[in-house]
Amino acid sequence: MFEKVLIANRGEIALRIHRACHEMGIKTVAVHSKADETAMHVRLADESVCIGPAPSRESYLNIPAILSAAEITGADAVHPGYGFLSENARFADIINEHGLTFIGPSGDHIRLMGDKIAAKETVKKLGIPVVPGSAGGIESAEEGAKLAAEIGYPVIVKAASGGGGRGMKVVRSEEELATAFSAARTEAKAAFGDDTVYIEKYLGKPRHIEIQVLGDSHGNAVHLGERDCSLQRRHQKILEEAPSPVIDQKTRDRMGGIVADAIREMGYLGAGTIEFLFEDGKFYFIEMNTRLQVEHPVTEMITGIDLVREQIRVAAGHPLSIKQKDIKFHGHAIECRINAEDPLTLAPSPGTVTEYHPPGGLDVRVDSALYAGYRIPPYYDSLISKLIVRGATREDCLLRLRRSLEEYVIGGVKTSIPLHQKLIENEDFISGDYDIHWLEAYMDELRGR
Ligand code: ADP
Repeated sequence: MFEKVLIANRGEIALRIHRACHEMGIKTVAVHSKADETAMHVRLADESVCIGPAPSRESYLNIPAILSAAEITGADAVHPGYGFLSENARFADIINEHGLTFIGPSGDHIRLMGDKIAAKETVKKLGIPVVPGSAGGIESAEEGAKLAAEIGYPVIVKAASGGGGRGMKVVRSEEELATAFSAARTEAKAAFGDDTVYIEKYLGKPRHIEIQVLGDSHGNAVHLGERDCSLQRRHQKILEEAPSPVIDQKTRDRMGGIVADAIREMGYLGAGTIEFLFEDGKFYFIEMNTRLQVEHPVTEMITGIDLVREQIRVAAGHPLSIKQKDIKFHGHAIECRINAEDPLTLAPSPGTVTEYHPPGGLDVRVDSALYAGYRIPPYYDSLISKLIVRGATREDCLLRLRRSLEEYVIGGVKTSIPLHQKLIENEDFISGDYDIHWLEAYMDELRGR
């Protein structure tokens, strides 16, 4: 097993990884930017190294600085968390080439899944259903128009290297196609340095259902059921739950089985998530994330399995500690992402946290790096906390969530807590009747539009 793990991340996820390491008897190295000198992950780690100034590209994305930090401290593995370098194939390769272990899949698997066109082709061959669309990149608006006529409008133009919901354009009719095509290309080029785009059928009322998987280097692969992440604004998830209110055990077993078989066949190592749109009882693959997800705790809450621990174990060459038959789902879990932002306008609200009192009690988990007096820096993602609650049923879970949100005090900055409080009182939400577009419409309503 590793002796020392460098955590190439910040905030709540750096703490989350630190906790798993310490429970396994592994020492941790925190890396941090100048803006994060007083951050909780730096305080708790066994050692810390400053890797650059505040902007991420000079610190948390600075590969040479992170590599030097690992070498100076004698770390034997690097956990990338999510975001930052977690899906950077070159980073994984460089870490491995320097005799360290990247805690995650191979650089080749990251590269393959990072190219959405190649990813779609690969999983299709492995028996996973995909959204109907172009077989590869689309070279011209004319080619796009021809294909769109075949699959039928509306369609969506997407960036092959896309991420974070950028470089996507919905096209409702042929007249809109040329403009959308060039806009998506320009946006993709600017955001990802790659202007390859493809087209797929735009689904009108889908849910976002994703399946958590784990694979080891001994030919084992398991699935840990689904998470429903349909509540999104600007294509960003804000509340996630497991199990999904619309997936029954038979469907879960069937789809989970297909997905676990596929990643076993690929020889995939570590944790991964296969994302689907789900409409009219059918699954359509959209992408695979080759890393730990922000919302992984909802799966942990209902399975009792520590996903970070499994990631570390399999990266060290151990087999998974669980078999498919050991994985049971207990109750219902919901995660609320709490951002430092105005709950209505969504404008970021960095600043000093004057008061901090997290909720507690049975089946209440708070993953956060906040403390009273902490200054939330303006340079990074606005996610400051995740409140994850479990209940025996979805109803119980909602009661506990309501009580926990009531208790949660974060003073000095605006947060999304009031939004979550409203949201969970909404009838559509309570009945589980929502799709990926529901939240945007709901927020427009709240803003009085
Ligand atoms: P990204 O990597 O940028 O997050 P995804 O392919 O995961 O891109 O898509 C992000 C979100 O965009 C999805 O969760 C969904 O809300 C929407 N979306 C993507 N593809 C489609 C589609 N074919 N039809 C309808 N909505 C889509």
